[in-house]
Amino acid sequence: PAPTNNLDAFWMPFTANRQFKNAPRLLVGAKDMHYTTSDGRQVLDGTAGLWCVNAGHARPKIVEAVQRQVAELDYAPAFQMGHPKAFEFAARLTALAPKGLDHVFFTNSGSEAVDTALKIALAYQKARGEGGRFRLIGRERGYHGVGFGGISVGGIVTNRKTFGPGLPGTDHLRHTYDRERNAYSRGIPEHGAELADDLERLVALHDASTIAAVIVEPVAGSTGVVLPPKGYLERLRALCDKHGLLLIFDEVITGFGRLGAPFATDWFGVTPDIMVTAKGITNGVVPMGATFVSSKIYDVFMNGPEHIIELFHGYTYSAHPLACAAGLATLDTYAEEGLLTRASEVGERFADALHALKGLPHVIDIRNIGLVGAVELEPIEGQPTKRAFSAFLKAYEKGIMIRTTGDIIAMSPPLIISEAQIDELVGTLADVLREID
Ligand code: PMP
Repeated sequence: PAPTNNLDAFWMPFTANRQFKNAPRLLVGAKDMHYTTSDGRQVLDGTAGLWCVNAGHARPKIVEAVQRQVAELDYAPAFQMGHPKAFEFAARLTALAPKGLDHVFFTNSGSEAVDTALKIALAYQKARGEGGRFRLIGRERGYHGVGFGGISVGGIVTNRKTFGPGLPGTDHLRHTYDRERNAYSRGIPEHGAELADDLERLVALHDASTIAAVIVEPVAGSTGVVLPPKGYLERLRALCDKHGLLLIFDEVITGFGRLGAPFATDWFGVTPDIMVTAKGITNGVVPMGATFVSSKIYDVFMNGPEHIIELFHGYTYSAHPLACAAGLATLDTYAEEGLLTRASEVGERFADALHALKGLPHVIDIRNIGLVGAVELEPIEGQPTKRAFSAFLKAYEKGIMIRTTGDIIAMSPPLIISEAQIDELVGTLADVLREID
C-alpha cells in the first residue's frame, strides 16, 4: 500500500529519484534475490540494491545479528570507547584484506571513507616532511561519492560544477575508455596500458612535490563499468612509487566479491597504499564504510609531530555496534557460502548471456567482469539518457531491476544469483531492448 498520498516531503532537490516524482515506485519488501513492490509484484534484483546487497536480501544470520545487537548494545561512541565487536570486525576485515593493509578506519558511507582516505594521504605526506604535497589526483569518469573531497577528485563534471571549485589543486587523469578499440571485448581490454602514462603529464604540469595521492576505482562502476586496460593499474602503481605519491583504490563497488575475488586488489594483483570500501561491507543492511591503510603509511602518519592534536577525524557513528554486528554476520555469510569467489564461478555464464545481446537494437558496447556488466546503448539524438531510462522502466515492469547511468545499463546482481536467474535477468533485458524505441 502507498503509505500516503502526499509524497512531497521526500523529494529532495538533489536526489536522482526526482525523475520518478510523477510515478513513484515503492519497494515494500525484499528477500534473497527479489524485491516486493507496493503493487504486490516480485522484481528480480539485478543490481544488488545499489551494488551493495552482495549476499542477497534479508539473510537470516545478518537479520538476527542486528536484532541481537540492538537489544544488547545499541550505541557506543568510538571517540572515547571501543566495544568488542569493533575490535573483532577490524581484525576480521584486515585478515581478509590484501596483505599489508593492516589498519582500518570505520565510517558510515563510501563518501566518508573517500574523505578519510584523502585526509590520511595528506596527513601522511605532512608527517614525512612533504607538507607541500596538497594536490589530489582523480580520473575522468571516476565516482567517489558526494562529499566535497569525493566530488573534487571525482571525474563527473556535472556532479560538481554547481558547487564551485571544490578542493584546491585537484586534477584528473584522462579516462581509460576507448570504445573504438575495445567495443564488445570480453573482460579486460587489451589496449591502452600506456594510458597510465597520463600521470606523467600531470606530474610534469604540477611537479611531483605538490602531489599527495592518486585515487581511482580499479573498475569504474557508477560511470558505466569501465575496466582498466591490461597493465594500467600496474603502471599507475609504478609511477606513484617513482614520484612519491600514494595510490588509493576506491573499492566501494569492487570490494567484497563483486569481481570474483574478495577485492579488486586481489583480482588485479596490484596493491594500493589505501583502500576505500563500503556497500558490501555490511551487505547494505546498516550504513558503513571502511578505509584500509597499509602499515607503511599508518606508522608514519600516526607518529608524525601532529599526532592526535592535529589529526582530528571521526564520526559520531564510526564503528557503530549495529554496523559491526551486521558486518561480522555478513563476513560469516560470505565465507559459509563461498560468495567472495562466486563471481568467478558464474562470471562466464553471465558474460555469455551478456555478450549474446550483441546485435540487438541500440546496443553499441558490452562490458563485463565478474558479476558486473554494462550494456551501452546508442543515445537518442538530442535526448541523452532517454533510451536507457525507458529501458529501466520497461525492465521494472517486466520484473527485473537494472541500473542506468547516461545511456548505459549496468547490472551487478547479488552474488547468490543462480544460473537460471542470470538467464532470466539478461533474457528479460533482451526482450526490453527489442521493445523500446
Ligand atoms: N565510491 C564509489 C566507487 C562508489 O560507487 C560510491 C557509491 N556508488 C561511493 C564512493 C559513495 O558511496 P556512498 O554513496 O555510500 O557515500
